[in-house]
Amino acid sequence: MTKSFAIVGSGPSGMYAADALLKKFPSCRICVFDKIPMPFGLIRYGVAPDHFKTKNTSRQFLRTLELEQVHYLGNVEVGRDISTDELKENFDAVVYAIGAYNDRQLGIKGENLRGVYGACAFVGWYNAHPDFCDLNPMLDGETVAVIGIGNVALDVCRVLTKTRTEMEGSDISTPALDRIQSMPIREVHMFGRRGPIEAGFTPKELGEVRDLERCAAIVDSKQLPQKIEGNFDTREKGIKEKNLKILNELAEQSKPQKSIKMNFQFYASPTEILGKERVEGIRLERTKVIDGKARSTGEVFDVPCCSVITAIGYQADPPEGLKLNGAILENTNGCINDNVYVVGWAKRGSSGTIPTNGPDSRAVIELLSETLENDNNKIKGGYDSISKLLEARNVRTVSINDMKKIQAAEIDNARKNHPWEKFTKIESMLEVLN
Ligand SMILES: Cc1cc2nc3c(=O)[nH]c(=O)nc-3n(C[C@H](O)[C@H](O)[C@H](O)COP(=O)(O)OP(=O)(O)OC[C@H]3O[C@@H](n4cnc5c(N)ncnc54)[C@H](O)[C@@H]3O)c2cc1C
Repeated sequence: MTKSFAIVGSGPSGMYAADALLKKFPSCRICVFDKIPMPFGLIRYGVAPDHFKTKNTSRQFLRTLELEQVHYLGNVEVGRDISTDELKENFDAVVYAIGAYNDRQLGIKGENLRGVYGACAFVGWYNAHPDFCDLNPMLDGETVAVIGIGNVALDVCRVLTKTRTEMEGSDISTPALDRIQSMPIREVHMFGRRGPIEAGFTPKELGEVRDLERCAAIVDSKQLPQKIEGNFDTREKGIKEKNLKILNELAEQSKPQKSIKMNFQFYASPTEILGKERVEGIRLERTKVIDGKARSTGEVFDVPCCSVITAIGYQADPPEGLKLNGAILENTNGCINDNVYVVGWAKRGSSGTIPTNGPDSRAVIELLSETLENDNNKIKGGYDSISKLLEARNVRTVSINDMKKIQAAEIDNARKNHPWEKFTKIESMLEVLN
C-alpha cells in the first residue's frame, strides 16, 4: 500500500529524510511543509552570504522537491495553519525537521538591554529572513562584541568587517549591507569562555580571516598551547592541529596598517552586559580551562562596545503538541512517539554542517521503516486531505513552481555583482504569485 509521509521543515535534515524515505518506500508520497514560502532552511537563511557556493547544496534538494511523488507546501506553519494532531491523523508518519530557531540565553545581567542580539536573529537579519528583517541592529559605535568561538561567530565577524567589494557575489540583503557598511567599525572582539583547543572553528573558515582586505586578526600567542592534548579521535585532532597552526600564523602576523581589528579573546567569560538603556560595554572574567571546563579566576575586565552578538547555540521552537528537552525536541534516537520522528538540529542540537544531517536523517528513517512495517496499514488522507484543509482555512500554500517564480523575481531584482536580492517580507514573495 502507498504510504504517505509528512516532513515538517525543508532544511537539509528534512530533505535528507525525504531522500531516505524515497529509497525505503519507492512508491510513497511525501508532503514537505515549511513555514517560509522559500525552502531549504539555514542554507538560505543561515549560511553566510559570502559563502554563496555553499548555498548551491540546495540544488540537489530542489531535484527532490521537483519529483512527482513529492509535494512542497511552503508558507504553512505547523502549529499555526495546521496542528500536529491533524498531521498525525493524515499521514502514516510525521518527521519533524524544524531546526532550532531560538537563540540560547547567556543568563547574565544586562542581557535584555537594547543592542544585544542572538546570532539566529542577527544572521537572519543580514540573510533577509522574514522573521528578523526588522531587527534594525544598533551598529552605531566602533566596537562590537561577539560571544562564541565557532564558525557562526566567525561568520558574523567576517560579514561585519568585509568591505563592500569583498561582499560582491554574496546574497547579503541590501539594507543589511548598507547598514553594516555605514558603521564606523574599528574593532570586533570574539570572546570564548574556553581556549583554542575547545574552539569550534573549522580550518577553512578560520583560514579566511588571514586575507581580509581591511581587517587584521589579532591573536595573543600566550593564549596558544604548544600542542594538542586531550582525548580526541584522529579526525578531531587533525582539525585542532590545523586550527592551531593558523592561529599561530595569525599571532605572528602583525598588520597594524589595516583599519579594523578582529580580536580573538580566549579564556574570557561574559558576566554582565553593561549599560543603562542600551549596551555600553561588556564585563568579562578571565578563565582557565581544567579538564576541558572553564573555571573562574576572579580577574574581571570591561570592554566598551555598542552591541553584543551571542553565538552560543540555538534551541528548537516546537509547535504545540511537541515537548522540549533542553534545546532539542524530546526524543529517543529520533523517535518522539508512535510514527512521529525528529531529525536534524531539532533532534540533536545546533551543531554539525549540512552533510552531517545526511547520515543522521538516514538512521532515523531506518528506525521509522522498522516501526511502520508493524503498522496496521490504515489508509491516510495525505496530500489530498491536507490541501483541502488548508484551502478551507485560506492558507496560500506555495508550491515548487510558485517557489521558482519567486526565485526568478529575486534574480531579476539583483543588484550588480550579486546573484539575487531576497525578499524580506512574506507578503512581497506572495505578491509575485498574484
Ligand atoms: C549561521 C549559520 C551558518 C552555517 N553555515 C554553514 C556552512 O557554511 N556550511 C555548512 O555545511 N553548514 C552550515 N551551517 C549548518 C547547517 O545550516 C545546519 O547543519 C542545517 O541547516 C541544519 O538543518 P535542519 O534541517 O536541522 O534545520 P534548518 O536548516 O534550520 O531547517 C529547518 C526548517 O524548518 C522550518 N520550520 C521551522 N518550524 C516550522 C514549523 N512550525 N512549521 C513549518 N516549518 C517549520 C524552517 O523554516 C526551516 O526551513 C550553518 C548554520 C548556521 C546557524
